[in-house]
Amino acid sequence: MEGPVELEEAPGLLDEDPGWCGSQKKQNIRRALLAWYSLERRRLPWRGDPPPWSEDKGMLRSQASKAEQCKQGKASSSSITKFFGLKAAPREKTGKIEVIDLEDLEHPVQSCPQNAYAVWVSEVMLQQTQVEVVIGYWTRWMERFPSLQALAAATADEVNNAWAGLGFYGRARRLHEGARYVLEQHGGEVPQSREELLRVPGIGPYTAGAIASIAFNQPAAVVDGNVVRVFARLAALKGHSKCPALHKRCWKLAEDLVDPERPADFNQALMELGATVCTPLAPACSRCPLSATCKALKLVTAGQVGSVTDFPAKQSQKPRRQRILALAAVADASDCWMLVRRPKTGLLAGQLDFPSVDVADLEGTDDRKAASVLRLQKLLVELGFRQEVTLTPLSAQVEHVFSHEHHTMQVFRGCIAGHGEPSELKPNVSWLTLQQAEEAGITSGLQKVLHALLPTFPAKRAAKRQKH
Ligand code: SF4
Repeated sequence: MEGPVELEEAPGLLDEDPGWCGSQKKQNIRRALLAWYSLERRRLPWRGDPPPWSEDKGMLRSQASKAEQCKQGKASSSSITKFFGLKAAPREKTGKIEVIDLEDLEHPVQSCPQNAYAVWVSEVMLQQTQVEVVIGYWTRWMERFPSLQALAAATADEVNNAWAGLGFYGRARRLHEGARYVLEQHGGEVPQSREELLRVPGIGPYTAGAIASIAFNQPAAVVDGNVVRVFARLAALKGHSKCPALHKRCWKLAEDLVDPERPADFNQALMELGATVCTPLAPACSRCPLSATCKALKLVTAGQVGSVTDFPAKQSQKPRRQRILALAAVADASDCWMLVRRPKTGLLAGQLDFPSVDVADLEGTDDRKAASVLRLQKLLVELGFRQEVTLTPLSAQVEHVFSHEHHTMQVFRGCIAGHGEPSELKPNVSWLTLQQAEEAGITSGLQKVLHALLPTFPAKRAAKRQKH
């Protein structure tokens, strides 16, 4: 991500100001953010909170509205204190930032779980997936693999099965590899320093900073999409959200600002602010603890920019690649399905799938279905299948959307005629019952195809992607 790059020119937006964050401002930002977090943080299982968790948007909204009502004096502070087990402290105005004195909080929130493995799992799952989806996956994962040792001892299929539906399957594979590395190299103890964490396969700068700070309270910085957005607005920084120069600047700011006493809470507060208040499309500046110091908000008030959402600058979105596929869903007499393992890299790396061919070039032709059948039969022969099979198209197509691709799938149901030579299937092809396939992990796309073939097969909910 780093290296010499040109900052994107965005007329009207300010250059970075090196003196923007002086020591008093830094202190004020820390205090305001930590006080806000103590009162309004979400209850999440990996933070050590007992249920109920802040898992649905209704709950988050009511939590936000309780806080807003309390600020405006419309509700007693007891509604918040009851929810968090806290006593809300009186607020005083100091300078430009509203500050709650942490000394006045009766029971500071305990938000630093000691189990680094649990933090690691949550941080990997939260990359590109929304919190409310992760809660269910994380709790099931921790029941199934309660320790790093349990994860290291699991098979790839068991890991895949526990991850099925979350998407971006490389994350699960790398987490598994990382757990085995930590077991072999560190006796199963997750290293505490950012430097050692960075040597663990699959752990990059963000995850290393998150584990070091959240699990071990080390003053390590974290920068994710939420933090980039908050800093881009707070300091009115140039560059679009994926711009390497903006990321570099945000890492410097994060390193400078991280609270040396409470890095765990500070980093979580910063990310939480981006996720719940300083959101991409509808930031709630009226209830933001940093509004008094926010440069983007000042520019809006002065009429110099139209909206705080002008930061970070918009990046032109590449359209999703459209793929049109034909799939062969062949079952034998024992209700076993012919499934292939996808290659170890690329989309859905290592996942089970029906044999498929690209048929985009056949769109609009009269013999599209017949030509698709010929291609699928050729593929089955290449996979080592030697028996005669008839392929009949399902009436409806199946659509599945990935972050960068949109698949339209014409599914052909295969019926084996029982003639032909014995098959010599390639190593990546297997005949599996549905139960065996489920144990090995079924992706959301395959789930949809199976549901189209067998309406009694559940159409499981796909994991929602996090929007930055
Ligand atoms: S004041 Fe608004 S734009 Fe600025 S950091 Fe807070 S929510 Fe984001």
